[in-house]
Amino acid sequence: MNVIKLNNYVEVPQLGFGVFQITDEEECRKSVLTALQTGYRLIDTAACYGNERAVGQAVKESGIDRKDIFLTSKVWIQDAGYEKTKCSFEKTLENLQTDYLDLYLIHMPYGDYYGSWRAMEELYNAGKIRAIGVCNFEADRLVDLILNSQVVPAVNQVELHPFCQQKQLREVMYHYEITPMAWAPFAEGRNGIFTNETLTDIGRQYGKKPSQVILRWLRQSGIIAIPKSVHRERIEENSDIDFFRLTEEDLIRISQMDTGKSQILDIRSLLEVYRLFNIRFVQ
Ligand code: NAP
Repeated sequence: MNVIKLNNYVEVPQLGFGVFQITDEEECRKSVLTALQTGYRLIDTAACYGNERAVGQAVKESGIDRKDIFLTSKVWIQDAGYEKTKCSFEKTLENLQTDYLDLYLIHMPYGDYYGSWRAMEELYNAGKIRAIGVCNFEADRLVDLILNSQVVPAVNQVELHPFCQQKQLREVMYHYEITPMAWAPFAEGRNGIFTNETLTDIGRQYGKKPSQVILRWLRQSGIIAIPKSVHRERIEENSDIDFFRLTEEDLIRISQMDTGKSQILDIRSLLEVYRLFNIRFVQ
Protein backbone atom coordinates (compact mmCIF):
# COMPACT_ATOMS: atom_id res chain seq x y z
CA MET A 1 0.00 0.00 0.00
CA ASN A 2 1.35 3.38 -1.02
CA VAL A 3 1.58 5.84 1.87
CA ILE A 4 2.22 9.56 2.20
CA LYS A 5 3.94 11.18 5.16
CA LEU A 6 2.14 14.23 6.55
CA ASN A 7 3.93 17.31 7.91
CA ASN A 8 3.86 15.74 11.40
CA TYR A 9 5.32 12.45 10.07
CA VAL A 10 2.05 10.53 10.40
CA GLU A 11 1.66 8.11 7.48
CA VAL A 12 -1.56 8.02 5.46
CA PRO A 13 -2.56 5.51 2.78
CA GLN A 14 -2.55 7.42 -0.49
CA LEU A 15 -5.75 5.77 -1.66
CA GLY A 16 -8.81 5.84 0.54
CA PHE A 17 -12.53 5.24 0.36
CA GLY A 18 -15.10 8.05 0.63
CA VAL A 19 -18.65 7.57 1.87
CA PHE A 20 -20.40 10.84 1.01
CA GLN A 21 -23.99 10.29 -0.17
CA ILE A 22 -24.12 6.69 1.02
CA THR A 23 -27.05 7.54 3.24
CA ASP A 24 -28.50 4.07 3.67
CA GLU A 25 -26.82 2.56 6.77
CA GLU A 26 -26.78 -0.98 5.43
CA GLU A 27 -25.39 0.07 2.06
CA CYS A 28 -22.69 2.12 3.79
CA ARG A 29 -21.74 -0.73 6.12
CA LYS A 30 -21.49 -3.17 3.21
CA SER A 31 -19.52 -0.78 0.99
CA VAL A 32 -16.98 0.04 3.69
CA LEU A 33 -16.63 -3.65 4.50
CA THR A 34 -16.03 -4.40 0.82
CA ALA A 35 -13.48 -1.61 0.62
CA LEU A 36 -11.62 -2.90 3.68
CA GLN A 37 -11.68 -6.46 2.32
CA THR A 38 -10.33 -5.14 -0.98
CA GLY A 39 -7.37 -3.56 0.80
CA TYR A 40 -8.39 0.08 1.39
CA ARG A 41 -7.16 1.26 4.77
CA LEU A 42 -8.30 4.89 4.76
CA ILE A 43 -12.00 5.63 5.23
CA ASP A 44 -13.26 9.19 4.83
CA THR A 45 -16.54 10.06 6.55
CA ALA A 46 -17.99 13.19 8.17
CA ALA A 47 -20.48 14.05 10.88
CA CYS A 48 -22.87 15.51 8.31
CA TYR A 49 -22.84 12.38 6.10
CA GLY A 50 -24.96 10.66 8.74
CA ASN A 51 -23.07 7.40 8.32
CA GLU A 52 -20.33 7.45 10.96
CA ARG A 53 -22.12 4.67 12.83
CA ALA A 54 -22.22 2.43 9.76
CA VAL A 55 -18.52 3.06 9.16
CA GLY A 56 -17.74 2.13 12.77
CA GLN A 57 -19.78 -1.04 12.41
CA ALA A 58 -17.94 -2.06 9.23
CA VAL A 59 -14.55 -1.41 10.81
CA LYS A 60 -15.51 -3.60 13.74
CA GLU A 61 -16.87 -6.37 11.51
CA SER A 62 -13.79 -6.34 9.29
CA GLY A 63 -11.72 -7.78 12.13
CA ILE A 64 -8.83 -5.57 11.03
CA ASP A 65 -6.80 -4.07 13.84
CA ARG A 66 -7.99 -0.49 14.51
CA LYS A 67 -4.43 0.81 14.31
CA ASP A 68 -4.16 -0.51 10.74
CA ILE A 69 -7.13 1.59 9.59
CA PHE A 70 -6.87 5.34 9.03
CA LEU A 71 -10.16 6.99 10.02
CA THR A 72 -11.02 10.50 8.91
CA SER A 73 -14.04 12.53 9.97
CA LYS A 74 -15.10 16.19 9.85
CA VAL A 75 -16.85 18.77 11.97
CA TRP A 76 -19.80 20.47 10.26
CA ILE A 77 -20.73 24.19 10.25
CA GLN A 78 -23.51 23.74 12.85
CA ASP A 79 -20.78 22.66 15.30
CA ALA A 80 -18.23 25.36 14.48
CA GLY A 81 -16.71 26.91 17.61
CA TYR A 82 -14.64 25.62 20.50
CA GLU A 83 -17.23 23.94 22.73
CA LYS A 84 -19.46 22.60 19.99
CA THR A 85 -16.51 21.08 18.14
CA LYS A 86 -15.40 19.26 21.28
CA CYS A 87 -18.93 17.83 21.71
CA SER A 88 -19.21 16.85 18.05
CA PHE A 89 -15.80 15.18 18.21
CA GLU A 90 -16.89 13.04 21.18
CA LYS A 91 -20.02 12.03 19.28
CA THR A 92 -17.89 11.12 16.26
CA LEU A 93 -15.71 8.86 18.41
CA GLU A 94 -18.79 7.22 19.89
CA ASN A 95 -20.36 6.69 16.45
CA LEU A 96 -17.16 5.22 15.05
CA GLN A 97 -16.67 3.04 18.15
CA THR A 98 -13.15 4.27 18.64
CA ASP A 99 -11.20 6.29 21.19
CA TYR A 100 -9.08 8.29 18.75
CA LEU A 101 -9.23 9.65 15.21
CA ASP A 102 -6.44 9.53 12.66
CA LEU A 103 -7.48 12.73 10.94
CA TYR A 104 -10.08 15.31 11.93
CA LEU A 105 -11.02 18.07 9.52
CA ILE A 106 -12.93 21.34 9.55
CA HIS A 107 -15.51 20.59 6.88
CA MET A 108 -16.18 24.13 5.63
CA PRO A 109 -14.42 27.48 6.07
CA TYR A 110 -17.56 29.01 7.53
CA GLY A 111 -18.67 30.02 11.01
CA ASP A 112 -16.33 30.11 13.99
CA TYR A 113 -13.78 27.75 12.55
CA TYR A 114 -11.02 29.43 14.56
CA GLY A 115 -12.79 28.22 17.70
CA SER A 116 -13.00 24.76 16.13
CA TRP A 117 -9.30 24.86 15.35
CA ARG A 118 -8.42 25.70 18.97
CA ALA A 119 -10.44 22.68 20.12
CA MET A 120 -8.77 20.50 17.50
CA GLU A 121 -5.30 21.71 18.49
CA GLU A 122 -6.06 20.72 22.09
CA LEU A 123 -7.38 17.31 21.10
CA TYR A 124 -4.34 16.82 18.88
CA ASN A 125 -1.94 17.79 21.67
CA ALA A 126 -3.80 15.45 24.02
CA GLY A 127 -3.24 12.55 21.60
CA LYS A 128 -6.93 12.08 20.74
CA ILE A 129 -6.30 12.90 17.06
CA ARG A 130 -3.18 11.94 15.12
CA ALA A 131 -3.45 14.76 12.58
CA ILE A 132 -5.73 17.76 12.05
CA GLY A 133 -6.63 19.58 8.90
CA VAL A 134 -9.21 21.47 6.90
CA CYS A 135 -11.41 21.10 3.84
CA ASN A 136 -12.32 23.56 1.14
CA PHE A 137 -9.90 26.24 2.32
CA GLU A 138 -8.70 28.58 -0.40
CA ALA A 139 -5.19 29.98 -0.13
CA ASP A 140 -6.09 33.19 1.74
CA ARG A 141 -8.12 31.42 4.43
CA LEU A 142 -5.50 28.72 4.76
CA VAL A 143 -2.61 31.15 5.26
CA ASP A 144 -4.61 33.32 7.68
CA LEU A 145 -5.40 30.23 9.77
CA ILE A 146 -1.73 29.25 9.76
CA LEU A 147 -0.58 32.73 10.77
CA ASN A 148 -3.02 32.81 13.68
CA SER A 149 -2.60 29.27 15.04
CA GLN A 150 -0.07 26.96 16.63
CA VAL A 151 -0.54 23.89 14.46
CA VAL A 152 -0.24 24.03 10.67
CA PRO A 153 -2.98 21.89 9.06
CA ALA A 154 -1.61 18.56 7.86
CA VAL A 155 -4.20 18.19 5.09
CA ASN A 156 -6.49 20.35 2.98
CA GLN A 157 -9.22 18.21 1.43
CA VAL A 158 -10.49 19.99 -1.67
CA GLU A 159 -12.37 19.34 -4.88
CA LEU A 160 -9.60 18.03 -7.11
CA HIS A 161 -9.94 16.17 -10.41
CA PRO A 162 -8.71 16.64 -13.99
CA PHE A 163 -11.16 19.51 -14.62
CA CYS A 164 -10.29 21.31 -11.37
CA GLN A 165 -6.64 20.73 -10.52
CA GLN A 166 -6.19 23.47 -7.87
CA LYS A 167 -2.74 24.31 -9.22
CA GLN A 168 -2.27 27.65 -7.44
CA LEU A 169 -3.67 26.42 -4.15
CA ARG A 170 -1.40 23.39 -4.31
CA GLU A 171 1.65 25.64 -4.65
CA VAL A 172 0.73 27.41 -1.41
CA MET A 173 0.05 24.08 0.27
CA TYR A 174 3.35 22.71 -0.93
CA HIS A 175 5.09 25.70 0.67
CA TYR A 176 3.52 24.85 4.06
CA GLU A 177 3.88 21.08 3.57
CA ILE A 178 0.11 20.61 3.62
CA THR A 179 -0.92 17.42 1.83
CA PRO A 180 -3.73 17.71 -0.71
CA MET A 181 -6.55 15.19 -0.38
CA ALA A 182 -8.74 15.05 -3.48
CA TRP A 183 -12.46 14.88 -2.91
CA ALA A 184 -14.55 13.98 -5.95
CA PRO A 185 -11.52 12.63 -7.83
CA PHE A 186 -14.03 11.60 -10.54
CA ALA A 187 -15.81 14.96 -10.45
CA GLU A 188 -18.78 12.89 -9.22
CA GLY A 189 -19.09 11.61 -12.79
CA ARG A 190 -19.81 15.07 -14.22
CA ASN A 191 -18.69 16.42 -17.56
CA GLY A 192 -18.51 12.95 -19.11
CA ILE A 193 -15.37 12.18 -17.13
CA PHE A 194 -15.72 8.38 -17.39
CA THR A 195 -15.79 8.56 -21.19
CA ASN A 196 -13.43 11.50 -21.62
CA GLU A 197 -11.41 11.10 -24.84
CA THR A 198 -8.04 12.13 -23.43
CA LEU A 199 -8.32 9.86 -20.39
CA THR A 200 -9.63 6.97 -22.50
CA ASP A 201 -6.79 7.40 -24.96
CA ILE A 202 -4.15 7.48 -22.22
CA GLY A 203 -5.70 4.46 -20.51
CA ARG A 204 -5.73 2.44 -23.72
CA GLN A 205 -1.91 2.27 -23.66
CA TYR A 206 -2.01 0.42 -20.34
CA GLY A 207 -5.33 -1.44 -20.57
CA LYS A 208 -6.79 0.90 -17.94
CA LYS A 209 -10.05 2.84 -17.61
CA PRO A 210 -10.32 6.64 -17.31
CA SER A 211 -11.12 6.22 -13.59
CA GLN A 212 -7.86 4.34 -13.07
CA VAL A 213 -5.88 6.88 -15.10
CA ILE A 214 -7.23 9.65 -12.84
CA LEU A 215 -6.29 7.80 -9.66
CA ARG A 216 -2.83 7.01 -11.05
CA TRP A 217 -2.36 10.68 -11.99
CA LEU A 218 -3.23 11.67 -8.41
CA ARG A 219 -0.86 9.02 -7.06
CA GLN A 220 2.02 10.31 -9.19
CA SER A 221 1.17 13.89 -8.18
CA GLY A 222 1.57 13.19 -4.46
CA ILE A 223 -2.16 13.63 -3.77
CA ILE A 224 -4.34 11.44 -1.56
CA ALA A 225 -7.56 10.30 -3.29
CA ILE A 226 -10.77 9.06 -1.68
CA PRO A 227 -13.07 7.80 -4.48
CA LYS A 228 -16.55 6.62 -3.50
CA SER A 229 -18.48 3.70 -4.92
CA VAL A 230 -21.17 1.34 -3.70
CA HIS A 231 -20.30 -1.31 -6.30
CA ARG A 232 -17.81 -4.06 -5.52
CA GLU A 233 -16.38 -4.23 -9.05
CA ARG A 234 -15.76 -0.47 -9.06
CA ILE A 235 -14.30 -0.50 -5.56
CA GLU A 236 -11.86 -3.17 -6.77
CA GLU A 237 -11.17 -1.46 -10.08
CA ASN A 238 -10.41 1.82 -8.33
CA SER A 239 -7.79 0.15 -6.18
CA ASP A 240 -6.06 -1.52 -9.13
CA ILE A 241 -3.64 1.27 -10.01
CA ASP A 242 -0.29 -0.10 -8.86
CA PHE A 243 1.16 -1.75 -11.92
CA PHE A 244 1.37 0.94 -14.55
CA ARG A 245 3.02 4.34 -14.75
CA LEU A 246 1.92 7.45 -16.65
CA THR A 247 4.59 9.10 -18.75
CA GLU A 248 5.54 12.79 -18.70
CA GLU A 249 3.53 13.18 -21.90
CA ASP A 250 0.43 11.60 -20.29
CA LEU A 251 0.79 13.93 -17.31
CA ILE A 252 1.05 16.98 -19.56
CA ARG A 253 -2.10 15.95 -21.43
CA ILE A 254 -4.01 15.60 -18.15
CA SER A 255 -2.60 18.91 -16.93
CA GLN A 256 -4.13 20.54 -20.02
CA MET A 257 -7.60 19.32 -19.04
CA ASP A 258 -7.71 21.78 -16.14
CA THR A 259 -10.42 24.44 -16.43
CA GLY A 260 -9.18 26.21 -13.30
CA LYS A 261 -12.76 26.16 -12.00
CA SER A 262 -14.79 24.10 -9.60
CA GLN A 263 -17.39 21.79 -11.17
CA ILE A 264 -19.18 20.96 -7.96
CA LEU A 265 -18.74 23.40 -5.09
CA ASP A 266 -17.94 27.08 -5.51
CA ILE A 267 -16.97 27.88 -1.94
CA ARG A 268 -17.20 31.65 -2.55
CA SER A 269 -20.75 31.57 -3.88
CA LEU A 270 -23.33 33.22 -1.60
CA LEU A 271 -25.90 30.63 -2.60
CA GLU A 272 -23.57 27.93 -1.30
CA VAL A 273 -23.01 29.81 1.96
CA TYR A 274 -26.80 29.88 2.54
CA ARG A 275 -27.34 26.31 1.31
CA LEU A 276 -24.60 24.79 3.45
CA PHE A 277 -25.56 26.85 6.52
CA ASN A 278 -29.03 25.33 6.32
CA ILE A 279 -27.79 21.74 6.40
CA ARG A 280 -28.59 20.66 9.96
CA PHE A 281 -28.68 17.17 11.46
CA VAL A 282 -28.69 15.24 14.68
CA GLN A 283 -25.35 13.49 14.92
P1 NAP B 1 -16.38 10.83 -6.67
O1 NAP B 1 -15.64 9.85 -5.86
O2 NAP B 1 -15.67 11.71 -7.62
O3 NAP B 1 -17.48 10.10 -7.56
C1 NAP B 1 -18.37 9.17 -7.05
C2 NAP B 1 -19.28 8.74 -8.19
O4 NAP B 1 -18.53 8.01 -9.18
C3 NAP B 1 -20.39 7.85 -7.74
O5 NAP B 1 -21.53 8.19 -8.48
C4 NAP B 1 -19.91 6.45 -8.13
O6 NAP B 1 -21.02 5.64 -8.42
C5 NAP B 1 -19.10 6.73 -9.36
N1 NAP B 1 -17.98 5.80 -9.55
C6 NAP B 1 -17.03 5.46 -8.65
N2 NAP B 1 -16.11 4.65 -9.21
C7 NAP B 1 -16.48 4.47 -10.49
C8 NAP B 1 -15.93 3.72 -11.57
N3 NAP B 1 -14.80 3.03 -11.43
N4 NAP B 1 -16.59 3.76 -12.77
C9 NAP B 1 -17.73 4.48 -12.92
N5 NAP B 1 -18.30 5.19 -11.92
C10 NAP B 1 -17.68 5.18 -10.71
O7 NAP B 1 -17.30 11.78 -5.74
P2 NAP B 1 -17.52 11.99 -4.19
O8 NAP B 1 -18.14 10.79 -3.58
O9 NAP B 1 -18.24 13.27 -4.03
O10 NAP B 1 -16.05 12.21 -3.60
C11 NAP B 1 -15.31 11.20 -2.97
C12 NAP B 1 -15.27 11.39 -1.46
O11 NAP B 1 -14.74 12.67 -1.12
C13 NAP B 1 -16.66 11.42 -0.81
O12 NAP B 1 -17.25 10.16 -0.72
C14 NAP B 1 -16.33 12.06 0.52
O13 NAP B 1 -15.75 11.12 1.39
C15 NAP B 1 -15.33 13.13 0.09
N6 NAP B 1 -15.96 14.46 -0.14
C16 NAP B 1 -15.59 15.49 0.66
C17 NAP B 1 -16.14 16.74 0.49
C18 NAP B 1 -15.73 17.87 1.39
O14 NAP B 1 -16.35 18.95 1.32
N7 NAP B 1 -14.73 17.69 2.21
C19 NAP B 1 -17.09 16.97 -0.53
C20 NAP B 1 -17.45 15.90 -1.35
C21 NAP B 1 -16.87 14.65 -1.15
P3 NAP B 1 -21.40 4.30 -7.59
O15 NAP B 1 -21.29 4.63 -6.12
O16 NAP B 1 -22.80 4.03 -8.04
O17 NAP B 1 -20.42 3.26 -8.02
